[in-house]
Amino acid sequence: MIVAERKNIDEILRMVEPYSNVAVVACGTCVAVSMAGGEAQALEIASLIRKKARAGGRDVEVTVTSVIRQCDMEFLDALDDRAEIYGAECVLSLGCGAGVQFMAEKYPYKIIVPGLDTTFIGVNRGLGFWTEMCQGCGDCVLEKTGGICPVSRCAKSHFNGPCGGSSGGRCEINADADCAWQLIYDRLKRINQTDRLLEINPARDWRASRDGGPRKLVRADVTVGDNDGE
Ligand code: SF4
Ligand code: SF4
Repeated sequence: MIVAERKNIDEILRMVEPYSNVAVVACGTCVAVSMAGGEAQALEIASLIRKKARAGGRDVEVTVTSVIRQCDMEFLDALDDRAEIYGAECVLSLGCGAGVQFMAEKYPYKIIVPGLDTTFIGVNRGLGFWTEMCQGCGDCVLEKTGGICPVSRCAKSHFNGPCGGSSGGRCEINADADCAWQLIYDRLKRINQTDRLLEINPARDWRASRDGGPRKLVRADVTVGDNDGE
């Protein structure tokens, strides 16, 4: 899932301050699960914006609406006939960075501002606790590393074993984090695959990751018509 957190409320208030009609749009998928951009958070933010405006002697209309996913036009289209959107001078999107940008594409003449800071692709390890697991590198190596990602979980993204700086199983960059290569070794040992550590991974072609610029994925098997993804 995409993990995000709410921006500092002062930053949100600064972004919406110039406008007298603000629509707060929640997103019902990843960011709702990470308790940052769901309906409950949208209602809370709307209330804070109203209180701040009242305290400043300003009259601001703040509405709340939501869609299942802001990163999917099929769901965004549902906003078209909603009074909250066409009446709004400014839309505060509580989607992840992809959702905010898709909203801006859909409504090219509307002010769209982000209410969240998108942080990473991760997992939920407990109430209010998420950790990063994947950087979407475009060339997954989990088969070689016992299901533990060296790209996102090693601070140096090492592909051929540890850097030598770990101590007590902890990363030398961040003592709060496990050394990814210690985890990889332990896991390979448990599944009788430590011989995989002898394989030398060649220099990686990072063009499949972000280093090759913005990426796109077009699946011919589910594409209809001449859709090339644009
Ligand atoms: S190797 Fe790449 S795709 Fe696989 S989990 Fe790590 S970052 Fe994600
Ligand atoms: S200590 Fe382990 S996780 Fe940290 S940078 Fe070195 S190899 Fe990577």
